[in-house]
Amino acid sequence: MENRKTALITGGSRGIGRAICLELAKEGMDIVFSYQKGAGEAEETALLCREYGVRVLPLQADVAKPEDCSILVQKALEFSENQIDVLVNNAGITRDNLLLRMSDDQFQQVIDTNLTGTFYMMREVSKTMLKKRKGRIINISSVVGIKGNPGQVNYAASKAGVIGMTKSLARELAARKITVNAIAPGMIETDMTKALPQNAREEIINSIPMKIMGQPQDIAKAVAFLAGEGGQYITGQVLSVDGGLAI
Ligand code: NDP
Repeated sequence: MENRKTALITGGSRGIGRAICLELAKEGMDIVFSYQKGAGEAEETALLCREYGVRVLPLQADVAKPEDCSILVQKALEFSENQIDVLVNNAGITRDNLLLRMSDDQFQQVIDTNLTGTFYMMREVSKTMLKKRKGRIINISSVVGIKGNPGQVNYAASKAGVIGMTKSLARELAARKITVNAIAPGMIETDMTKALPQNAREEIINSIPMKIMGQPQDIAKAVAFLAGEGGQYITGQVLSVDGGLAI
C-alpha cells in the first residue's frame, strides 16, 4: 500500500464525477466513490475504472446527510488503510425556478446537497489529512457561483458558498501542506444540461466565447492536474474550465 494513492469522489456514478473517477484511475489511484440512487450506473463506473488495474469501491451515500458522510469516509479509510490522498466534492443537483416561484424545499435541497454536503465531507476528510500532513481537496463549483444566473438563486448561492469555503479552508490548512481548490465548470454535456430546451441551449452556446460546450473529461483533466504533482503549490484558487464563459 505504501506508494498507492486513494481518491474519494462524491457523485461518481454519472457525468463529471464518472469522468473524474476514470481520469484519477488512469493516473493509477485507487478510487472510492459515492452515488445516491444510480446503483447500476455506479457499477458501470467501477467496471470502467478497474480496466486501469486499480482497486475501486462504490458506496451509496447521500452527501446531504452527515451520518452518511461519516460512514462513507470511515469505509474509505478502511479500504485505503487510512490514506485518503484526494477528496473531490462533485455531487450536486439543480432545482431551478424563478425566485418568486421557488419553494423552500427547492432552495433547501440544493443548499443541503451542494454546500452543506461539501462542508460535511471536508470536515470528515480533513481530520485524516491533518494527521498525515498532506492532501488535496478539490471542490466542484460552477460559473454560476461566479456570475449568477436567472432561475438559479439557490444553485448560485450554493456554488458561491463553495468558493468561500474553499478559500477559507485553504487558509486553515495551508501550513499543514493540504491544498484546497475549486473548479468552476461552464456548460458541460451531462444529464444536468441535457434537460435544457434546444433554444436555451443554442443561446448559451452562443454566449460561450469558444462556442462549444465542454465535456466531462475537460473537468476531469483539471482535477487530475490539481491532484497531481503540478498542483502541489496551488491553493485557494478557483480554476474556470468553461471555454471563456466567465470572462
Ligand atoms: P449529473 O446530474 O450528471 O450527476 C450528478 C452526480 O451527483 C450523480 O452521480 C448523482 O448520483 C450524484 N448526486 C446527486 N445528489 C447526490 C447526493 N445527495 N448524494 C450523493 N450523490 C449525489 O451532474 P454533473 O455531472 O453535470 O455535475 C457534477 C457537478 O458539476 C455538480 O456539482 C454540478 O453542480 C457541477 N457543475 C456541472 C455543470 C454542467 O454543465 N454539467 C456546470 C457547472 C458545475 P446518482 O446518479 O446516484 O443520482
